[in-house]
Amino acid sequence: MDADCIFCRIAEEKIPAQIVFSNDEFVAFRDINPQAPTHILVIPRRHIPTLLDLEEADEALAGRLLRTAAAIARAEKIADRGFRLVENCNREAGQTVFHLHVHLLGGRPMSWPPG
Ligand code: AMP
Repeated sequence: MDADCIFCRIAEEKIPAQIVFSNDEFVAFRDINPQAPTHILVIPRRHIPTLLDLEEADEALAGRLLRTAAAIARAEKIADRGFRLVENCNREAGQTVFHLHVHLLGGRPMSWPPG
């Protein structure tokens, strides 16, 4: 827990968020500035600043993070039509919150390449 991290505070329910899924390892909540009809952030409860901070011991966590995102896509009924997972790493990729998170986006057609 990093007291200065907004996502740690959401995971601890110290600040409000629209939580759609929670277990002992992950929390998922709706993005405050949605970029698609469904825009959910899936985060580990543990404070991991970026993808670059994942270690070998975290490989199972990383796998469960992806499977959790897929399960939420099914629950949100966007799985069959298609959805996108985005992980912005560091500033040039657009990372603004330095607590590892996967964006789950769906509910509209997605273009490629991303901006
Ligand atoms: P990134 O730019 O990849 O670091 O993504 C951070 C995301 O967090 C952005 O899409 C923000 O809109 C979202 N965000 C920031 N603060 C909150 C909050 N309090 N509740 C929900 N989403 C947030």
